[in-house]
Amino acid sequence: MTIKGVVLSQKVLGEQDKFMDVLTETGIVEILVKGSAKITSKNGSATQLFAYTEFDVTDSFRIQNQNHKNQKNFCHLRSASPIRIFYGLRQSVQSVALASYFAQVILYSALPQASTPEILRLLLNCLHYLSESGSKSGSESDPLQIKCIFELRIISLLGFRPDVLMCRKCGCYLPERLYFQVENGCFYCESCEKSGILMPAGTLQAVRHIVLQDFEKIFSFRIASHCRDSLFAFAEQFLQYHTDRHFPALEYYYKLYDI
Ligand SMILES: [Zn+2]
Repeated sequence: MTIKGVVLSQKVLGEQDKFMDVLTETGIVEILVKGSAKITSKNGSATQLFAYTEFDVTDSFRIQNQNHKNQKNFCHLRSASPIRIFYGLRQSVQSVALASYFAQVILYSALPQASTPEILRLLLNCLHYLSESGSKSGSESDPLQIKCIFELRIISLLGFRPDVLMCRKCGCYLPERLYFQVENGCFYCESCEKSGILMPAGTLQAVRHIVLQDFEKIFSFRIASHCRDSLFAFAEQFLQYHTDRHFPALEYYYKLYDI
């Protein structure tokens, strides 16, 4: 059987073997790599973290993993050939930390079957832009912008899309300043309510772009400098609140920033 997917995590088992969690279009598959030391020369890059690979595996069977919300398929690896290795990720510890954060969000969430192909596509695109962020400049390669696109888009795919239509009370479409309430997933203009994350109209427009725009266009936009802080804070808090999880990789990412 052949499957295509991205390696999200790895667990070494003894001296020779390892387990990998792989995100495919149909969900997360756990693959056992026997004798990984021997495979290293042949399939090394194909089974490394964040590789997008075609795996030849034995027939899989379903297991219930207690640490994850998802049921996972389990199988043994026969061989692997890389489709895309994101070499640029290795240039920056911060990019690796962000990629690990993305992987943890996916691993710790219950993935709706219908959205899984799009979640895989989102991850592949985020890894692509992150791996370019060291070598290219421009908004598409801004790691913080990639982070907030991932957060808002994936939380929408997981079924918690923020209500970005209008002020919940008076119906105003684009208030000059507004308060977005993370818990309720909606916003109020400044004259209707004064609790939540305060943001200017530009931030609301950026959130609208990320959650509503066709996938092909979500990475190409520029955030005005006075909107950045409120957008980044909102995206992170919204994801954290609605997944109700703590992500160690995100903590690690902030530690890197403090140095
Ligand atoms: Zn209002």
